[in-house]
Amino acid sequence: MSNIHFEKIALIGIGLIGSSLARVIRREGLAGSIAIATRSAETLKRAEELGLGDSYTTDNAEAVGDSDLVIVSVPVGSSGLVALEIADNLKSGAIVTDVGSTKASVIAQMQPALPTSVHFIPGHPLAGTEYSGPDAGFAELFTNRWCILTPLPETDPEALAKLAAFWEACGSRVDRMDPQHHDLVLAIVSHLPHLIAYNIVGTASDLEQVTKSEVIKYSASGFRDFTRLASSDPTMWRDVCLNNKDAILEMLGRFSEDLASLQRSIRWGDGDALFELFTRTRAVRRGIIEAGQEVDAPDFGRQAAVSRTGSN
Ligand code: NAP
Repeated sequence: MSNIHFEKIALIGIGLIGSSLARVIRREGLAGSIAIATRSAETLKRAEELGLGDSYTTDNAEAVGDSDLVIVSVPVGSSGLVALEIADNLKSGAIVTDVGSTKASVIAQMQPALPTSVHFIPGHPLAGTEYSGPDAGFAELFTNRWCILTPLPETDPEALAKLAAFWEACGSRVDRMDPQHHDLVLAIVSHLPHLIAYNIVGTASDLEQVTKSEVIKYSASGFRDFTRLASSDPTMWRDVCLNNKDAILEMLGRFSEDLASLQRSIRWGDGDALFELFTRTRAVRRGIIEAGQEVDAPDFGRQAAVSRTGSN
């Protein structure tokens, strides 16, 4: 049990991230009560069946009343709307945060709508899976994963420390970053890999000479790893692309240049260039394993369904 405690936490959005938060908040005893709000009656009913909170509503403003911590876990394109809906009902001194995968655009959408009497501290847990909805969440999602907070220049240090302690109690390691820098880093480590996966799986599904059954039958040979990423939630990823446009275009530009160079090495039989690149990239993976962000175990049977953690 952690020392950090909020009388009431409101969770707006109860999908993969919101429901994982609900579960870990309960497990760690981080709140006196949990208020849950989501857009559809159907998702709300499921959250209630799963017993994720103490009160349930489809009215975002109602959920935030009297809450000391409000966590917005909706697709980033909806964060401005949510901020407008909750603004008038927020308790003075409350911490309002989010978990969106892009930061500059979320700040631009939410900050103008929120009253200055609350502490708005944007955040992003680098933890996720390709699943969505309240059934997909689990309390261990954030264990040993980074959570990046992107405080604003006027952020109160005490509120920031309290939010950092909350994420640590959820199992995360906490870092702070400038929002623009966050968007650039995430464009390369998360957004570009997802786009490459969406693209390669799209290309395969377009190929008429390779039948669908062959794509599925022989998928173990590399393709399968891409299909996992490419099955991620379409709404979430549409919003990420639209809301981190500049950084993603910058990384796609670099990627295209490097791909052209790789193409050239293959065309001209430049084995040394290929070998040098493939050796350099192997070292990157070793670094990730050494940093504790991946396990070095053969995974031909794919334990992903068991461990279920990824990073977005
Ligand atoms: P999800 O499983 O699809 O859940 C989204 C939730 O948001 C649903 O409960 C949905 O409600 C609700 N919602 C949408 N619009 C709403 C609105 N206007 N008001 C209230 N609720 C609304 O998505 P998720 O994976 O949890 O992602 C949530 C956020 O976390 C996104 O911003 C994403 O970028 C970020 N994130 C995701 C991952 C990941 O791997 N998935 C990782 C880190 C961060 P209904 O079902 O009722 O429509």
